[in-house]
Amino acid sequence: MARTAIYAGSFDPVTNGHLDIIRRGAQLFDRLVVAVGNNPAKRYLLDLELRLDLVRSSAVGLPNVEIVAFRGLLVDAARRHDADVVLRGLRALSDFDLEFRNGLANRALSGIETFFLLADPGMIYISSSIVREIASHGGDVSGFVPDHVAAALREHAHPVAS
Ligand code: ADP
Repeated sequence: MARTAIYAGSFDPVTNGHLDIIRRGAQLFDRLVVAVGNNPAKRYLLDLELRLDLVRSSAVGLPNVEIVAFRGLLVDAARRHDADVVLRGLRALSDFDLEFRNGLANRALSGIETFFLLADPGMIYISSSIVREIASHGGDVSGFVPDHVAAALREHAHPVAS
């Protein structure tokens, strides 16, 4: 039976940590749907089209990975895209509490199971918020994101005056 996983996030921007989960998820599942969140209540640094483009160009060469936009409940997006499981990355104990509760809520809502991949130990400190913070001060994010993402941040993250 073909297995599809859905991996959701804001990807504002996509980082090397996300890409590690996407590459490993693409090996574990027949199909991996990467769902880029677009929540009207949330303020993003990068607009949806750019966030989608940056994930798309990062996943070139992974033929079983599909990139889609999503808003609303993750379990509804999972159903729409025929996903059997939710894929998440776990960086640290601090991720665990919220992920555990979200996973249980999603299972109570729709019966969907959640799979966790342990973050690569070399990437546990990488998050989109840290990347945005570094970029907003004109810092070097080249160790955190692919080159094309760093270039987009140079264009779109305007350093705050110091
Ligand atoms: P959001 O912005 O919607 O909170 P995140 O980008 O924080 O989404 O996270 C999306 C998913 O990616 C989560 O499962 C998170 O644990 C995982 N993730 C984020 N950064 C990393 C990383 N450096 N290594 C592994 N997983 C990560």
